[in-house]
Amino acid sequence: MMAQYLALKAEAEDCLLFYRMGDFFELFFDDARTAAQVLDIALTSRGEHAGAPIPMCGVPVHSAESYLARLIKAGCRVAIAEQVETPEEAKKRGGSKALVARDIVRFVTAGTLTEEALLEPRRANVLAAVCEVRGQVGIAACDISTGRMELEECTPERMGAALARLGASELVCPDGWEAAPLDGIARPLREFQSDGGQERLCLIHGVATLDGFGAFSRAMLAAASGLIAYLDHVGRGRLPLLLPPVARSTGAHLAMDEATRTSLEILEASGGGRRGSLCEAVDRCVTGAGARQLAEDLSAPLTDVAMISARLDLVQWLHDEVMLRGDLRAVLRALPDVGRALGRIVAGRGSPRDLGQLRDGLSEARRMRDYLLRREDRPGLLDALLPHLGGHGALVDHFSRALVPSPPTERAQGGYIAAGYDHGLDALRETAGNARRAIAALEAKYRDETGVAALKIRHNGVLGYFIEVPAKHGDRLMAPDSGFTHRQTMAGAVRFNALALHEEASRIGEAGGHALAAEEAHFEQLVAEAVASAGAIAGTAAALARIDVAAGLAERAAEGLWCRPEVVDEARIAVTGGRHPVVEAALSAKGERFVANDCALAPEDRLWLIGGPNMGGKSTFLRQNALIVLLAQAGSFVPAERATVGLVDRLFSRVGASDNLARGRSTFMVEMVETAAILSQATDRSFVILDEVGRGTSTYDGLALAWAVAEAVHSLNRCRCLFATHYHELSRLAETCEALSLHHVRAREWKGDLVLLHELAEGPADRSYGLAVARLAGVPAPVLARAKAVLGKLEKGRAETGGLAAGLGELPLFAAALQAEEAEGDALRERLAGLDLDALTPRAALDLLYELKREASS
Ligand code: ADP
Repeated sequence: MMAQYLALKAEAEDCLLFYRMGDFFELFFDDARTAAQVLDIALTSRGEHAGAPIPMCGVPVHSAESYLARLIKAGCRVAIAEQVETPEEAKKRGGSKALVARDIVRFVTAGTLTEEALLEPRRANVLAAVCEVRGQVGIAACDISTGRMELEECTPERMGAALARLGASELVCPDGWEAAPLDGIARPLREFQSDGGQERLCLIHGVATLDGFGAFSRAMLAAASGLIAYLDHVGRGRLPLLLPPVARSTGAHLAMDEATRTSLEILEASGGGRRGSLCEAVDRCVTGAGARQLAEDLSAPLTDVAMISARLDLVQWLHDEVMLRGDLRAVLRALPDVGRALGRIVAGRGSPRDLGQLRDGLSEARRMRDYLLRREDRPGLLDALLPHLGGHGALVDHFSRALVPSPPTERAQGGYIAAGYDHGLDALRETAGNARRAIAALEAKYRDETGVAALKIRHNGVLGYFIEVPAKHGDRLMAPDSGFTHRQTMAGAVRFNALALHEEASRIGEAGGHALAAEEAHFEQLVAEAVASAGAIAGTAAALARIDVAAGLAERAAEGLWCRPEVVDEARIAVTGGRHPVVEAALSAKGERFVANDCALAPEDRLWLIGGPNMGGKSTFLRQNALIVLLAQAGSFVPAERATVGLVDRLFSRVGASDNLARGRSTFMVEMVETAAILSQATDRSFVILDEVGRGTSTYDGLALAWAVAEAVHSLNRCRCLFATHYHELSRLAETCEALSLHHVRAREWKGDLVLLHELAEGPADRSYGLAVARLAGVPAPVLARAKAVLGKLEKGRAETGGLAAGLGELPLFAAALQAEEAEGDALRERLAGLDLDALTPRAALDLLYELKREASS
């Protein structure tokens, strides 16, 4: 047995091997140690290997799913080795000592799950493959629980951002690739071939060319090839549901890098988990598929006014039609997760219940379509969705006839095919039923004959049907001519058989076996039918999800008095009465009110410098405006009275270092790396929020960097920007930057206490209130008094030398400084171009170098 185990283990590579033995999956050696620790189950041992006991642990097959879930969550991957023949077959094959053949039937990994119990209903589960072809990165991603697949290409620099958007739970990449993401699972390089990828995709979708699906680059196809090869590997050759790939074009979505996503807490709050995230604050979807679609929309907002307006029209319609919205949501709420049921069926892991879910979901979808068709004022997007809701009439009718109303998740007991569907099956069931009734009659007859009122006919898995009497009556049935044959003597009872009972029992057994086989054949047939229409069924699931998203957003808007944003193709943002959805919800849970604020950015006033005390609401204001842009471009209403959002191509959000201490790298370094990314990537169509840049270093450094960054954003990137800072000195930038204006969050000292008004006002902040905030936070009075004294001293010194920003006014303007540097560069370039290097003696070359160096340092 160990030889068989070790051979399978070699095949399982770095996965834990679940080795089927009867009713248990057993794990051995290091696998057992790992699993015992993660699962907190007993580690035992069995036999010896190389002179030492073999560590072992096991989990029951019937509850394996919950153990699998925990292992996957802990980052393990698992290979399942099943018995692929019965013990009887093994005996027939190789005699009584023959070992039952086993084979790895499947790998269970985080990215390749389909089981309901292992998946989160409101979250997509993405598997991605990434590789590089001739300097371009290709990314292939799919959610095999629903079959969605998309391909993307980007530059190596943008790979991080692209992967951040996908949030894959498992990532594969070619072995030996230097730029491979850290968490990538290395797979053989030969699996990432663009030709192979194209061929496989054509084969899977039965087409001669992929042109009908979109334009795919070599890098995209190579990644697709890697993805499919991995799916082949984990599914042991059985591919899961894969819908035709969609090419994600660069520029079709609002670009956000990983730092921005994290800082805006789009899908996850900073503490981890969905609570406190934007997604949680917005999500009112009533189906898991809707929630998954919403998360995707928020991760990838659009950049096309027409597409955004189409989504907004539908939300608006459902917002205004209160009754209709209520009706639709009631229907949606009762819907099964059609997409995921289909995913399991295609992957060969479907159950009768999954078939029932398709039937119910598709028939409700058809009803919904008929209901919506009666409305004449339908928005365009809904019209485009409606055809997808129908078209499954034949399948629904067939499944309705074939299946019982609520089919079970297990096939083994049968009973899922409806009566009246197959007369042969009905007859078998009747035979078995008659025999069961006959057995009930036999019980009465035997009681009469023996005079034992306590006689019972019972059934168990080992003996089948038998007659049982209390021990004290056993003798009465023991008599040789009694017609009963003894089978077993228990502590309090004796068990017998009888010919008539045996006959009826075999009738039940035989008919039951045939009935099961008949049901099984019908099951396969129904599965094949579902698989044949997989594409169309997935289309229905997607349309239902889209409707749920729109209805959920309409519900959210109505609940929070959100407004429909006007989305325009200009570099402006104008928000009246804007709010932060997450902070507002948190405050209202405490019975506190959120103070709404306006924001107005335009090309001539594109950078707002915002000062004011700590805790005054600066960060909140910055983020709420970023979120309003994000929501608007995702096609949602926004938390404001009125909002005009000019399309944003890239959104950046940065928070000064000391706010995120939990990261690994030197926090100031992280801050600067992220700031560098903004300065190199933001365009005049981008929107940037910068919160306390420069805070992570000393006062002078920090002020100097904040100053230079603000100038660069203003004069070079020319993007819309909200810049929060506690450096007063920066307000002097208003003197030189014509499109920069000064704002502050208001605060008042009242009877010695600081009152934060959370209200934005024009003009610079008058002072920094640091000590007042410290008092608010409970810093003891003696410490405050001492700080006050130190501050007085510092301020006096500062006043005498002209303050921290003294002399800054004499600096040349930023643009002018850049020009001067460029002019110098040009002169040097000209001089170099004029040199005839071949005519230069070594001595002359060296002299020239000295001269250049002297000039450079003068
Ligand atoms: P800052 O960035 O100025 O330090 P924050 O934006 O972090 O301040 O806000 C601090 C706290 O003040 C928030 O956690 C929130 O409870 C409260 N707050 C912020 N903005 C508002 C607002 N507009 N209305 C009401 N409370 C607010």
